[in-house]
Amino acid sequence: MKMLTTFALIIAAAATLTERQAVDLSRQTMIDLSHAYGPSTVFWPTSPMHFTLERLAFGKSEGGYFYAANTFCMPEHGGTHLDAPLHFAESGRPADQVPLEQLIAPALVIDITARASADRDYRATTEDVLQFEKTNGKIARGTILLLRTGWSRYWPDAKAYLGDDAPGDASKLSFPSYGADAAKLLVEQRGVAALGIDTASIDYGRSTDFQVHRIVAANNVPGFENLTNLDRLPPRGAMVIALPMKIEGGSGGPLRAVALVRR
Ligand SMILES: [Zn+2]
Repeated sequence: MKMLTTFALIIAAAATLTERQAVDLSRQTMIDLSHAYGPSTVFWPTSPMHFTLERLAFGKSEGGYFYAANTFCMPEHGGTHLDAPLHFAESGRPADQVPLEQLIAPALVIDITARASADRDYRATTEDVLQFEKTNGKIARGTILLLRTGWSRYWPDAKAYLGDDAPGDASKLSFPSYGADAAKLLVEQRGVAALGIDTASIDYGRSTDFQVHRIVAANNVPGFENLTNLDRLPPRGAMVIALPMKIEGGSGGPLRAVALVRR
């Protein structure tokens, strides 16, 4: 009898484990965290070019069937994109060598929308992180940390989104992001897998020394920029899959990021 009970307990435990490990897509809502690339995609004001799509073919082919194909060209850092550690660290990993474990992981979302609405130059503080942990528990190693500022509501209005849209001039940008101390806490102490944000940069718009970029790059942590739909994610419980274009030796690249949220 006692052995039977033990056996039942083992079965129950195994069932729970399987349930936890299996990703049952019928129970998940899929959320797109990427903007589309097109003529209105927002780029840094100093970017030498934007996204361009050139038609190679569109219409009835000689064989009588329909055929369409384009060629596209864009700088690595525009639209929803990856910052590979190489972006700000000479010996950091390039885009094609960022481990999948840093691109596919459980996500936590820190919401600073109210503070950013009151101050568009707001930088998330260590206090914001600690406050989040008070409610949601300590941030586990290997978590993808997303900062929600509400800024994607301005997309693709470059002036509203970046604070200034003067071509070739990045000296008057104004938008919220991570503060250096918060980034240090998240990367060096909590060991997050990646930092993501729904603004143009993991450094705030006024930054001239890009401290957050340098902190993450020095620790081989990638960044995800210009994300969207973060308002549809819970503070905890989402799974993020953020797969960039696998550019050999790239400093970043276009990123298709999605989230799975249990219904
Ligand atoms: Zn970038």
